[in-house]
Amino acid sequence: MTATATPSHSALSELAEASFAALDVREHIQPWHFGPVGAGLGSIPVRTPITGELIGSLGADHFGALVDYGAAIEAAHRVFPQWRDVPAPARGHVVRRLGELLKEHKDALGRLVTLEAGKIAAEALGEVQEMIDVCEFAVGLSRQLYGKTIASERPGHALRESWHPLGVVGVISAFNFPVAVWAWNTALALVCGDTVVWKPSELTPLTAVACHGLLRKALADTGHDPEAHQLILGKREAGEALVDDPRVALVSATGSTRMGREVGPRVAARFGRSLLELGGNNAVIVAPSADLDLALRGIVFAAAGTAGQRCTTLRRLIVHESVVDELLPRLVAAYQGLRVGNPLEEGVLVGPLIHQGAYEGMAAALEQAQAEGGKVLVGGERVGEGDSYYVSPAVVRMPAQTGVVANETFAPILYVLAYADLDEAIALNNAVPQGLSSAIFTNDVREAERFVSAAGSDCGIANVNIGTSGAEIGGAFGGEKETGGGRESGSDSWKAYMRRSTATVNYSTELPLAQGVSFG
Ligand code: NAD
Repeated sequence: MTATATPSHSALSELAEASFAALDVREHIQPWHFGPVGAGLGSIPVRTPITGELIGSLGADHFGALVDYGAAIEAAHRVFPQWRDVPAPARGHVVRRLGELLKEHKDALGRLVTLEAGKIAAEALGEVQEMIDVCEFAVGLSRQLYGKTIASERPGHALRESWHPLGVVGVISAFNFPVAVWAWNTALALVCGDTVVWKPSELTPLTAVACHGLLRKALADTGHDPEAHQLILGKREAGEALVDDPRVALVSATGSTRMGREVGPRVAARFGRSLLELGGNNAVIVAPSADLDLALRGIVFAAAGTAGQRCTTLRRLIVHESVVDELLPRLVAAYQGLRVGNPLEEGVLVGPLIHQGAYEGMAAALEQAQAEGGKVLVGGERVGEGDSYYVSPAVVRMPAQTGVVANETFAPILYVLAYADLDEAIALNNAVPQGLSSAIFTNDVREAERFVSAAGSDCGIANVNIGTSGAEIGGAFGGEKETGGGRESGSDSWKAYMRRSTATVNYSTELPLAQGVSFG
């Protein structure tokens, strides 16, 4: 593992200011403005995990904008009837325009993602590309919000179901996908006829203001009211405002299982809807017939990429006992070649952890793993010092799936377990509280089909011969059990953003009752 030098603080401030200015959204982000540290009343600090320092601040024209979450929800609620009445294909034009703006500003927005979330450039650009992809998907969807026509049991009657806009959708998002998760939700919600209030992570407010500005510009460019999208910046209290407000029809919340455990019951208590995308603890099974070259590449990207800070990060490697001794030395060698450091620098594959707390969580997990009989094969050390937290990704051989392995530690730790037969491997895959992503590397079609069958992986995502992370937008994304059960992005996930209405129309002159009931 090699480390690179971190850049100077002022250089990063300048890069943030230049990247933000390149988006050209200043007039669309009111009341917010972005400037040097300390600018503006009640300003929100913008920090980079690259150095751990402040790279600017977000101020508001009036202090109230920072705390009056109700006003944002009120505005989204007020605009909803007029947005609902815009024909869906015309709503698609707004999302098409958003996609165009994202293409135009891909590099600048990608740089902001690197600065605020610490992702290497390739992954940051990939995240913006994911936004562009979902916009394209949503534009097509805007002409395909189909309902069903059902055969009525009564003569002269028509039975059908239609999908209607829900109302205000509240989007709460996590730091590690600061822009893509917003786009998954917002592109779909908008074509479905909903207005949106977004509460981004408090760790990534600048990318949020950037996206807010781009969407408001898209709304203005297509002749629609920019108030259809609202942004509230703040910590969990801002999220709680969405959770508890009966004007918010759907709360789509992405983050830790801890957060979802609080949000789910509170939204349910007011009979609101929630869509939960929570923590994962994802496994790969390496079977005896696996192509080990392919498996190795898939494992390293899934486990060490994004510095282990993806919900779909590979955290458990379940290897058949006949290949474990061949695979592990190759895995250790691949880890030793990973370059850790400044994510702006070419060749770096592992950027920083988001903050000190993430590093402390990793160190505590490694300590616990060793206390539970684990042996660290490679990595696990802090690289560098100061206010930023870089680590060498770790591989830990475990004697069994003990307590620490069942938890999601949001850092690059890969626990390795050995198995004797496929039943045991599938049981290990499923024996954790989370159920997001999973994969098997095998050339045996029986094993592959078994893994993706009902008797196989219990996760929302079950892959064969690819890793656990890096899903395409075309499929429905989400997971079971403590991952929350929500589905976002492709397939028919759009249905979560609409309400279903079943209509029976009697065009006859009789009034026959269903089930042949006779009444007087
Ligand atoms: P987090 O739970 O700390 O915060 C997520 C968001 O929830 C933030 O905007 C935060 O302010 C808000 N929040 C926290 N408590 C809240 C409450 N009680 N009410 C309302 N809002 C509240 O998560 P994080 O550290 O930003 O992100 C990492 C976590 O997110 C990991 O567990 C990761 O697996 C998960 N994640 C899941 C997915 C998915 O699609 N399943 C995607 C990305 C991240």
